[in-house]
Amino acid sequence: MEPVEALERIAFLLERQGAVTYRVQAFRTASEVIRGLSGDEVRRRAANGTLARVRGLGPKTTRVVEEALSGEVPGYLARLTEEAGGPLVDGERGVRLRRALRGDCHLHSDWSDGGSPVEAMARTARGLGHDWCVLTDHSPRLTVARGLSPDRLRAQLSLVAEVNAQLAPFRLLTGIECDILDDGELDQEPELLAELDVVVASVHSKLRMDARPMTRRLLAAVRNPLVDVLGHCTGRQITGRPRPESRFDADEVFAACADHHTAVEINCRPDRLDPPRRLLRQALEAGALFSIDSDAHAPGQLDWQIYGCARAEECDVPPERVINTWTARQLTSWTGTGRMPRKERPGPAASRPRPHP
Ligand SMILES: [Zn+2]
Ligand SMILES: [Zn+2]
Repeated sequence: MEPVEALERIAFLLERQGAVTYRVQAFRTASEVIRGLSGDEVRRRAANGTLARVRGLGPKTTRVVEEALSGEVPGYLARLTEEAGGPLVDGERGVRLRRALRGDCHLHSDWSDGGSPVEAMARTARGLGHDWCVLTDHSPRLTVARGLSPDRLRAQLSLVAEVNAQLAPFRLLTGIECDILDDGELDQEPELLAELDVVVASVHSKLRMDARPMTRRLLAAVRNPLVDVLGHCTGRQITGRPRPESRFDADEVFAACADHHTAVEINCRPDRLDPPRRLLRQALEAGALFSIDSDAHAPGQLDWQIYGCARAEECDVPPERVINTWTARQLTSWTGTGRMPRKERPGPAASRPRPHP
């Protein structure tokens, strides 16, 4: 096992387990440092015991590197795999739907409040079997999350193009998690939003406004042709400092989602699991599409999609209503024009199984 692989696997498992950033950071930093050194130098330093002197490496990470070089699975990784490497949900719940997903429409990088570079997020998504994912960092007014100004977002688009050149045929699609302002307007220049592949729109402020203005606010957003996905619609938090659901007329909002080509997000973060099942069923009834999104702020959190898949299966959401099951081309065609993917035609007659005589 390569040292970088061991360090990244440890970070991945810690993040997947929901570990706080500082516990993970040492391993992420160390993997970057090792990546920047030649293999010869790493081996030489490991042999003469000077690895720990390299800035960014500590005793724990040095041990991982040395053990990996010696050809064994590092002890820390072995213990962590034992403790946290198993399935996140019991049994087969959500597994079939998760297998049908080709991508993820909502994730953050260190350009806003995520902890890892864009490339690390995309590489990990690819490693999880995805064909594409959408980079959705925050919009300007969410200053606590270092929301991107129009200029920073434009700069990020160039970076996305570079990452795509490196990771092809994997596709990193351009996007944003755009704040829905109090009056339902969007927190980014419309011309810039129109350039993006996918726009997720979410409420992050005044979550407790009265039901009537909140309904108007959400309706304005989901009817906006620039919006593709309604992010974590109730805004609830179910762990840590719990926050109740925002109140709004769900029938009206989900009907508008169905009419205006806006998917309802099934947000997979264990602290959100939003919408709750009763609203998820209501959205299904209303005819809406769904987007099952990790809302990952670190690479290991990309694996959280299984939580949303389990809930979607429990509520009988059929895979064809989930936009993450589409190819990147089908997805961008839908976000660009509202055209749904064509149903797969049955194969040529010869290849169809013949009925028994
Ligand atoms: Zn959000
Ligand atoms: Zn988010």
